[in-house]
This record gives sequence, structure tokens and C-alpha cells, in this order.
Amino acid sequence: MFKSALSLKFGVDYYPEHWPRSRWARDAELMGELGFNIVRLAEFSWSKIEPREGEYNFEWLDEAISILANKGIKAIIGTPTAAPPPWIIKKHPDILRIDHHGVRSPEGTRRNYCPNNPNYIAHTKRIVQALALHYRDNPNVIGWQIDNEFGIDPCYCENCVKAFRNWLKSKYGSLENLNSSCGFIFWSQEYEDWDEIFPPKPPLDMQNPSLCLDWHRFLSDSWIRYQQIQVDIIREIAPNHIITHNFMGLYKELNYFKLAEPLDIVSFDYYPKWSLNVDYARSAMAHDVMRSLKKKPYWIMELQSGAVKVHTAPIPKPGEIRLWTLQSIARGADGLLYFRWRSCRFGAEEYWHGILDHDGVPRRRFFEVKKVSEDLMKIAPHIEKTNVKPEIAFTLSYDNLWAFDLEVGYGGKNYYGLDSWDPSLDFYRVLYSKNLPVDFVDPSKEDLSKYKVVFVPSLMLIDEAAEKNLRSYVKKGGILIATTRTGAKDWNNVIVDAALPGVLSDLFGITVEEYTGLPDDEKVGIETNETMLSRKVAGKGRCWAEMLLPKEDAKIVAYYNMGIYVGKPAATINNYGEGLAIYIGSFPDEILYSAILDWLMERLKIEPVLPSTEGLEAVERTGSNGRVIFALNHSERMIQVPLKREYYEILSGEKVDGLLKIEGLDAKVLKPIN
Ligand SMILES: [Zn+2]
Repeated sequence: MFKSALSLKFGVDYYPEHWPRSRWARDAELMGELGFNIVRLAEFSWSKIEPREGEYNFEWLDEAISILANKGIKAIIGTPTAAPPPWIIKKHPDILRIDHHGVRSPEGTRRNYCPNNPNYIAHTKRIVQALALHYRDNPNVIGWQIDNEFGIDPCYCENCVKAFRNWLKSKYGSLENLNSSCGFIFWSQEYEDWDEIFPPKPPLDMQNPSLCLDWHRFLSDSWIRYQQIQVDIIREIAPNHIITHNFMGLYKELNYFKLAEPLDIVSFDYYPKWSLNVDYARSAMAHDVMRSLKKKPYWIMELQSGAVKVHTAPIPKPGEIRLWTLQSIARGADGLLYFRWRSCRFGAEEYWHGILDHDGVPRRRFFEVKKVSEDLMKIAPHIEKTNVKPEIAFTLSYDNLWAFDLEVGYGGKNYYGLDSWDPSLDFYRVLYSKNLPVDFVDPSKEDLSKYKVVFVPSLMLIDEAAEKNLRSYVKKGGILIATTRTGAKDWNNVIVDAALPGVLSDLFGITVEEYTGLPDDEKVGIETNETMLSRKVAGKGRCWAEMLLPKEDAKIVAYYNMGIYVGKPAATINNYGEGLAIYIGSFPDEILYSAILDWLMERLKIEPVLPSTEGLEAVERTGSNGRVIFALNHSERMIQVPLKREYYEILSGEKVDGLLKIEGLDAKVLKPIN
């Protein structure tokens, strides 16, 4: 049975409350057939658990847990706070958020409450405490998912306005400091009293950028604080249970590093197919971010197992559910639950399909999951105590993503015409195509020394800790690559009072002589310097161009070959301590990134997991159990990958060498033979 398969968790999100009790035993039996050892239960079930204030009904949930336990299936319980039941709203209409027009969020849905509302917080504490007390000693409950998919929808209620003023007070200490740090002299906005401060309202390009960023930080902190209230209660009552929350990959409105801190495990709700085709590089980056939040294996709490909601995202093709599962395991997931067991006949997600259709009859998707289960049985022993261990890191700063998106120009676009993930994603795609994984690191907090290369995608805001960290990394021999706008602002989102790239000017050995934004349809030509990168390639930069002025020792890596800066330096490299600092004055295309990466790979002896092959995603997990390589073919035709050595293929039990053939939408799992 799969349940003995070590630490790997495999299961499904199950809503027994949507189905007659007479069906539950059949569901458990079918789940047993799939080898499931875990289910997530009870998120969104507040009205069933507490139908009236203070009147609890756990009997149905106890029975569901016990029926599942008979098949060896344990439970994670979702705290039900993401959807307040009608009786709470009737009693306290003030728990509903207020938008910037002063309109309350609608009743009858989910995620419509304010995290700073004292009435909602009181009800939250009560339900979480009651649940934790009831299930702390149940041997079939192993842990908790807090709420569901926290996200930011700004709330302008009185509680939030007051809490925001207090947040500013504790950050700035005095009004004098606040006024000068944020530049409120501009447009005569200097404050004389904390009560004069209101959260910024759209259009945000007409508001103070520092206050906008602080408002965003405050909103993120509000949800993190709301999560902490629940974490504290469960930790105290059920200290042996694990606690997680289901994150949303590249969702960027919350500071995910901070949200992950008090949790045991990060979980990821992975829906690869939002459109006709899956963007696998983007998906891979989402996985890498999820794994990086705690630098340890994570779970997939919801993996798409059917069509979702709309006509643009059709049903997974045969093989896709299996590939998405193996992709998740390959990138570091140690737990995987499908969403959902059975497509629900009613409610807002009536077309959000699960493993079973509405009629509950096992069909193709069920049997594909069964095949996955057999695969995982074989893989599980080999991946225990392993993880993905990249040699390349990208800095990730949520404050920066927000600041980047807040630089709004006329027409609602930001100055760069880019999404704030794009500077990372552009380079990530090149690494992905070469089968090189990436860790994402918080530049203000994490040790960078274990990485051969650290990429700094437009780190516009730099605090003192990040400055020291980046500087010391290079000094001790690290290689840093930064793109345009790095160092342009201070931590309060104010442009620095120095030549760019500000505090890092000496690290890169340059100043920015002049810069310009580029219209959407205008690009600048950039050509690499053959003597530096040992080959000459011509690529393009988009959206922004800086004319760089190297100081004494910095060398020119690339020049502009068209546009207003023709003949001027576009990228430079500087020796600093024992390391190298590369600065790129635009947002380069993959041709330029490829040239830089090839040069680095050769110099640093960075080896791809498997050779670059169209359609192939190859990822390696390593640990005390050795190395396991996942080779996934996302294309629908057979691919052939040249191998440099002999491997044991775990799924077939055969030896492979020479050419590895992988059928369309299929995968191989390899272990090197010494
Ligand atoms: Zn509020």
C-alpha cells in the first residue's frame, strides 16, 4: 500500500459535506484504490460546523474522518475562515470589507471579510480554538491549513484606516520623520496630525509613491497578522500538528517570505492550465519560488485534475495530470493533493472539475491518477530526504515587486510597460530551456555564499542589509548580475540622492550617465563585446535603456548598436574583491542572456541536468539518497535526449544510455549508475 511509502503524501481535497453520507464509504474505497494517504477536509465548512453561534456540530466531520481512516487516509483540516457564514454577517455586517468607493463587499461569497475587524477576529479565534480542541487528540488528523488562498483586496474601513496610522507611527516614530522620509512637501501634503492621514486611493499615479508602498506593506502585514492569530491558537492547543497555508505561486501581492515564516510547510495551489497551452517555464518558476520560501520541500495542496471553470482552459489531455504531478515532485514537492475529488453539482465552482465528474463515476482521469500512484510507489523511496539544489539564485523582494508595479504612468501601465515578474522571468526562461534550476532568495536576509551566480532582477529598492549582503557576496568571490534600475531608490520608495546605481555604484564600477524609457514598439539594439564574452551576438533591449559610464576598472560587455545611445556601453563587468559584478542597463532579450549564461557556465563549470532539448524539462533532486533526475516531455511528439552516462530508469526498471527516448507527454525518472 502507498501509505507505507515513506514521507510522500498523496491525496485529494475532499468535501464530504457536499454529498450524501451514503456515498462516503464508496468515496473512501475509491480513494484507497488510488493509494491516497491524505485528504484535506472542512475548509469552507463553517456553516456546517457552527450552524448557529456557539452551537458546534463536529459529528459529520468525525464520521468522515473515521471512514477515511479505515482506508489508511489521514486528514489535514482547513480552518473555515475564508467564507464567513450568513449568521455572522447578519450579526456583524461591519466584517465585510469596504472598497475605495466606500462600498461593502458582497455577502454570499468568500474572501469578503476584513482581516482587521475585531468582530471577525473574535469569531475566528473561537472557531479555530473549538476545532483545534476537538481534533488535537484525533490520531487521524495530522495538521491544519490556515484559511484558504490569502490575497489582498484593500479594505478602507475605519479599523483599517486606524491600524494603518498606527503602522506608520511605529515605522516612522514622528510626523517630522514621516514627512521628510516620504517627501510630503510635494503637493503640500505635510501632515500635522496622524489623523490627517488616509490610505491612498486610485488612481495611484496621482498619489505619493512612498505612502502607496507603505499602504501595500500594511495590507500584506494585516493578512500575515491575521494568519498568525490562527497559528498561535493551533500551536498552543495542538503543538504536534503541522501547519500550512495554500499559496498561489507567482501571486505577488502578499509578502510570501513573511507569510511562510511561521508555517511548517508551504503549500502551493497549482493550476497549470488557465489557457489552451501551459506556460511551463512560468509554472516551473512558480514551483521554484514555492520551494524557495522555506528552502525545503513543499506540498501541492491543490493540483488541477480537470477543466477549470471556463472554455479557454479545456480538460487536461491524457498524460497531462501525470506530467504535472511528476513536475511538482521533481521541483521539490513532498506532498501532493488533487483538486478536487468530485466535481460539485452546485455553487460558484460548478464547472471546476475534479478527478471524478459530477456523477461520481471513475473514468479516464481517475485511471490516470491510478497510474501516477503506481509511479510514485516506485519513485518515493529514491526521493526521500532529497531536494532540488540550485547553483544559481535570483533575488526576490516583494517590496520591490510592489514598488515596480506602483510606478504607474499615464494610461495605468507602469513606467517600464512590464509586469514586475518580467525582469526575473526573462532570464528564467533561458535557464529553464537549459535545464538549470533556480533558488529565489531574500537579499536582505539570506546567505548567498552557496550560489555560484546571483541574479538581481531590477532590485530598485535596496535596504542596508541587502547592500551589505550583495557587497560581501561579491567580495568573497561571488558573481552578481543586475539589471537596470537596481539601486535607484531607498527603502521608502524615494529616488536616491546619488548617481545611479546609487549605493552599489562602486560595486559595479559605473555610473548611469543618462537613461530613457522606450515606447512599446521601440527596442534598442545591443551587441556583445567579443573580447569579453568570447563571441559576438546581437540582441535587443526593451522598455528602458541606460547609457553606462564605466569608472577605472570596469570593462564593457556590450554596446548599443542602434537607438539614441548607439556606440555607448549597455552592459559592464567589474572586478570587486574576489568576485565579479555585471550590470545590464536595459531589459535584455534571450539572445543576450544566453550569451552571458554560456560564458558563465563554461567559466564556472555549471552543468545542466540534461542537455537542452525542445519540449524537455529536466530537474534533479539530490540528497543522502543520491541523485534522481526527472525528464519530462511536455510536447506531444517523441523527443530524444543524448545521455553522457548510463542510468537506471526507475519507472521501467531498465538501464538506459546513449539516447533517451521519451514519448509525447511522458516522463522518465533516472538514477545515475556509477
Ligand atoms: Zn478593514
